[in-house]
Amino acid sequence: MKLVDSPGKSKGKKVADAASQDDEHHIPLGARQEIIKKFPIDPNLKNYEDTYASFNWEDAKKELTYFAEGKLNAAYNAVDRHMNDGRRNKVALYAISNDNKLEKFTFQEIYEASNRMANALRELGVRKGDRVFVFLPRVAELYICTVAIAKLGAIAGPLFSAFGPDALRDRLKDSGATVVITNPALKPKLDGIKHDLTDLQYTIVVNGDKKSLKAQEYTYEELVEKASTKFECVRTDAEDPLYLLYTSGTTGKPKGVVHVHNDILGHHMTSKWVLDLKEDDVYWCTADPGWVTGTVYGIFGPWSNGTSVVCYEGRFDADSWYELVDRLKVTVWYTAPTALRMLMKAGDDVVYRHSLESLRYILSVGEPLNPEVVRWGMKVYGLPIHDNWWQTETGMQLIANIPCLPVKPGSMGRPLPGVYAAVVNDDGDEVETGELGRLVVRPGWPAQLRTVWRNKEKYDEYFKIPGWYFSGDNAWKDEDGYFWFVGRADDVINTAGHRVGPFEVESALVEHEAVAEAGVIGKPDKERGEIIKAFIVLNNGFTSSDQLLDDIREHTKRQLAAHAYPREIEVKESLPKTRSGKIMRRLLKAWELGLPTGDTSSLEDD
Ligand code: ATP
Ligand code: MG
Repeated sequence: MKLVDSPGKSKGKKVADAASQDDEHHIPLGARQEIIKKFPIDPNLKNYEDTYASFNWEDAKKELTYFAEGKLNAAYNAVDRHMNDGRRNKVALYAISNDNKLEKFTFQEIYEASNRMANALRELGVRKGDRVFVFLPRVAELYICTVAIAKLGAIAGPLFSAFGPDALRDRLKDSGATVVITNPALKPKLDGIKHDLTDLQYTIVVNGDKKSLKAQEYTYEELVEKASTKFECVRTDAEDPLYLLYTSGTTGKPKGVVHVHNDILGHHMTSKWVLDLKEDDVYWCTADPGWVTGTVYGIFGPWSNGTSVVCYEGRFDADSWYELVDRLKVTVWYTAPTALRMLMKAGDDVVYRHSLESLRYILSVGEPLNPEVVRWGMKVYGLPIHDNWWQTETGMQLIANIPCLPVKPGSMGRPLPGVYAAVVNDDGDEVETGELGRLVVRPGWPAQLRTVWRNKEKYDEYFKIPGWYFSGDNAWKDEDGYFWFVGRADDVINTAGHRVGPFEVESALVEHEAVAEAGVIGKPDKERGEIIKAFIVLNNGFTSSDQLLDDIREHTKRQLAAHAYPREIEVKESLPKTRSGKIMRRLLKAWELGLPTGDTSSLEDD
């Protein structure tokens, strides 16, 4: 779709709304006085404007440990260097199993365990550049193996444990993985597709039973048992690949994004500034390392800062999540809109059954965060939820609501120091403040993708106009420099000559008390080009009726410009989502129009 632009009314209204909403919804620091009193926030990044003006990535390198001649290994920075900085005996990982058993690992224990595994992999013949994939639930070995692979200079490939055979095959085949680390429960999925994996040489099974294994298969335990706890981290070049991770598949077939050791510079600084990690924090990132958030901000970023990380094997459940926060006294919590909407759906009572008094800071990423959710968070947690924006491709947070700036609910925040983001038209020219356009970033941030695995053409598409990285998202920027997400470029709806982003309509819908979740699409219409159709999931205690739908429609009409309300609303039991929890609007659209569904290997329940 082309972005030329006479401003649509909806967009014009939105800018005006943002300004007028400020008094009512914008959360100034003043409103946080109580929280600030409880947690005297002294953010790591104290003055946004000054730092933005003076910062450069070259200076930030002093925060990392480099080898001679600028060689850099991300795993050395995440783990090994803490052997000499007083953190040797500090807890690196709190691992909570499905049945709530807690195991603690110090940095020294992670150091030794990852050294053993690095030695074992080397013994098997794994060399720099080889792809070693980890297909495990969120257990300690997942963290240990990822670090071990990086220490060797091999390329780590985290895989989400809920992947079905297609998703698994696609990734292992495309990447040419030579080793897969898994467990007995997941191994059958791998066995079922092994005949297609011509590059696969070895399978390593955590908690494996030697007797049930075939040739080229080992238990993790037998390999590490005889391996040394000493390993000299490979002196990788900063530009050597570190991990290969596939995107979520929200808009199409997942892309294999290649990141390098130099990313750790971005991981480190953003974990410090955006996650605001401090020495005493207990930090829980709910994302699985099978997604970029779980790898970057579940492992490398926080560990590079020497932070104690929580990993929870269990699935989402409001009570269990809150219990975990209380049990481990979690202070910083990084999660996703889908989880927050589910927590909101679970109700306020569940929140109040727990103390949650340790929590000082909450963040969200992965999808647009509806303002209603931020306001609800303020009410029940007493904390604003800090949204931030990035992608598998960007490898680190680029736009964020950082703690020293006021949160504007519904906005992704401002570009981080060292990052220049802009909104442009299709020719790459920056548009006016308040204008809708393509969200782009000036190339050169440290964790920028280095290539798309075996797909140079796709990689080049991101840089189709020199001087910009095209994110594929649409956004607008307000007069204070905050960025507002509108939708994926392909999801923007063109109705009667106006462009409407699904996010603003969805946010208006979830403001209605009956609506838990909403997914909005454009449906072809003779008269208007497209009309807006909404699919909604109702909150517990509400049943669908014509009257309720009318009420919801009236409610959204009041919130939005006249043309932006959904003419059609359909109630569904659930919305199609990626396994990482993102609403797949392209599927809603395909189903609605009876079109081919395209790649569905990322779909949650296939
Ligand atoms: P695919 O690229 O395969 O279609 P994906 O884009 O969902 O999948 P990810 O890299 O996991 O894969 O997600 C990045 C995308 O998630 C962003 O481009 C954006 O659309 C969305 N996103 C992430 N954070 C935010 C946020 N804070 N607000 C709005 N959208 C966000
Ligand atoms: Mg994407």
